[in-house]
Amino acid sequence: MSLFDRMVVKMLPVVPRVIVGAVASRYVAGDMVSDAIETAQALAADGAVATMDILGEEVRDKALAENYTNQYIALVDAIEASGISSSVSVKPTMLGLDITEELCEQNIERIFAHAAARKIRVAIDMEDHPTTDFTLRVHRRMHDQFGNAGTVLQAYMRRTLADIAALPVDNCQIRLCKGIYVEPESIAYKGYEEIRANYLLALEALFERGIFVGIATHDEYLVDRAIEIIQRRGLDASAYEFQMLLGVLPQLRSKILSGGHALRVYIPYGSDWYAYSVRRLRENPKVARHVMRAMIGLR
Ligand SMILES: Cc1cc2nc3c(=O)[nH]c(=O)nc-3n(C[C@H](O)[C@H](O)[C@H](O)COP(=O)(O)OP(=O)(O)OC[C@H]3O[C@@H](n4cnc5c(N)ncnc54)[C@H](O)[C@@H]3O)c2cc1C
Repeated sequence: MSLFDRMVVKMLPVVPRVIVGAVASRYVAGDMVSDAIETAQALAADGAVATMDILGEEVRDKALAENYTNQYIALVDAIEASGISSSVSVKPTMLGLDITEELCEQNIERIFAHAAARKIRVAIDMEDHPTTDFTLRVHRRMHDQFGNAGTVLQAYMRRTLADIAALPVDNCQIRLCKGIYVEPESIAYKGYEEIRANYLLALEALFERGIFVGIATHDEYLVDRAIEIIQRRGLDASAYEFQMLLGVLPQLRSKILSGGHALRVYIPYGSDWYAYSVRRLRENPKVARHVMRAMIGLR
C-alpha cells in the first residue's frame, strides 16, 4: 500500500457517513430484506446463487441479539417465499457470543432449526481467533443435529490444516477464505505468499477428505490454481463452488461463471452497513480514494 493509500485509509473514520454510503453502496444490497432478495434475483439472471448476511457484529445487548435472531428467521422465510437459491450466513458475535456462549448457541440453534425445516443451509462465518473453537464446536453440533451446517476456515491461521483433519466428512460444507481479522503472528501467517501457499494446501486437504468447498477469494492467482486442482482431480459441481463478495471484482465473477463453475455471491444488507463498508474500503484503497475525491469535491 502506498503512503497516500495508507493516509486515505487512516482518514476514513472522519469521512462523513453519507459519502462512505454513496461509494460503498456497491458492497451492500440495501437496508431491507427485499433489497437483498432483489439483488439475488439480479445475480441469478447471470447464473449465480447467493448467501445473505444481515449486517451487525459485536452485539452486547441480549435483546438486540434476539432481535437479530428473529431477523434471520424472517430472512429464511423471505428466501423460501421468493424461491431463490440462497443460504444465510451468520456471525456469532452478532447473535450474542460476547454476552454468553449459551445465549449465542441458543440463537444459532433457532436459526438452524428454522432453516433446516425449509431446506435452507446456514453458514457460520468465522470471526477472530477467540471465537474459533466455539464456532467449530457449534458448527459440529448443528451439522450432527440438522445437517444443513457450513462454516468457514481461514488460510492465514496456522491451525487450519489440523482443523480440516478434524472436520466431519458427510454433508460437510466449508468456505475457505484467506481471513480478514488482524491476528498475532504466533497463530497466523502474515506473508502474502505464505497465506496463498497455505490456502492451496488447505484446498487440497479439503478435497482429499471429500469435503465440499466454497472457494471464497477474489485473488485471481488462487482462482486459477483452484481451477487447475479441480481439473487435475476431475471434480464436478458436487465438490465445490466459488464464492465472492457483492461488489468486488465483477469481471472475475464473469470469468468464473463463463468457465462453467458454480458461483455464490455473499450479499450483505441491513441498517448496520457503516462498519462493514469501512472495512471493505480499508481493504481496497483504490475505492477509498474515490471516497476522498468525493469528499474534497463536496467541500
Ligand atoms: C464469500 C466470502 C465470505 C467471506 N467470509 C469470511 C469469513 O467468514 N471470515 C473471514 O475472516 N473472512 C471472510 N472473507 C474475507 C476473506 O477472508 C478475505 O479477507 C477477502 O476475501 C480478501 O482476500 P482475497 O482472497 O479476496 O485476496 P486479496 O489478495 O485480498 O484480494 C485479491 C483482489 O481482490 C480485491 N479485493 C479483495 N477484497 C476486496 C474488497 N473488499 N473490495 C474491493 N476489492 C477487493 C483486491 O483489491 C485484490 O486485487 C470472506 C470472503 C468472501 C469472498
